[in-house]
Amino acid sequence: MKIMVAVKRVIDYAVKIRVKPDKSGVETANVKMSMNPFCEIALEEALRLREAGHASEVLVVSMGGAQCSDTLRTALAMGADRAIHVSTSHSLFPLTVAKLLQALATSEKPNILLLGKQAIDDDANQTGQMVAGLLQWPQGTFASKVQMDKEAVGSVTVEREVDGGLETVKLQLPAVITTDLRLNQPRYASLPNIMKAKKKTITQITPEQLGVQITSDLEILEVFEPPKRKAGVIVASVDELLDKLKNEAHVI
Ligand code: AMP
Repeated sequence: MKIMVAVKRVIDYAVKIRVKPDKSGVETANVKMSMNPFCEIALEEALRLREAGHASEVLVVSMGGAQCSDTLRTALAMGADRAIHVSTSHSLFPLTVAKLLQALATSEKPNILLLGKQAIDDDANQTGQMVAGLLQWPQGTFASKVQMDKEAVGSVTVEREVDGGLETVKLQLPAVITTDLRLNQPRYASLPNIMKAKKKTITQITPEQLGVQITSDLEILEVFEPPKRKAGVIVASVDELLDKLKNEAHVI
């Protein structure tokens, strides 16, 4: 069984985001970039499935500028077997990424396509659902547990986090799974594996080679910081609180 994992390079979660002076986006120059945390969880799950004997190959893919190869190198150091970089300097929106993943899935034929539930830069939470739709594969989104079925070969059981609790779904393979925060704790790459990863090859491919045109119906008009929050006040009594909620905040 082959597992394909989509990993995105994003601004590190610990960095304080700054908007560019021309409001066209956020500052990424001289900013620490890392693998999207949900993608790390997706990769960890793929590696665990391989280690449990359910998969023979873990392929990682990433789309974007030249430095995506750093993220892929990290993925190889964590234990992925092979990497593909779809290289483009265009801005990528979820539908385009989904089309690129569809093309890669069609040629690579993975049994499971694993993605993060969302990328923490744009918080879109759309790519997994879109690629499942394009491929017409079943999808298990927001997975908090993934179990290969022993009695029914060719299917996987996914426990997913929904508003009211947990939902369990059984998916026929090939399938798309997107990972939630509680699925696992990703490993760190060990030094020997970092060294070994330097020798692994990252295949470069263009969207044109995959037959995907990078166009978008979306245009970012302006990016701005949220308004600063006002300082809070301490009220002396419940009556005063109710009065403020009613007459100042107008919420009751
Ligand atoms: P999003 O729908 O943008 O919130 O992203 C959800 C997931 O799609 C991410 O966690 C990745 O697994 C995948 N993804 C999105 N953009 C990319 C990209 N440029 N390269 C690789 N994977 C991506």
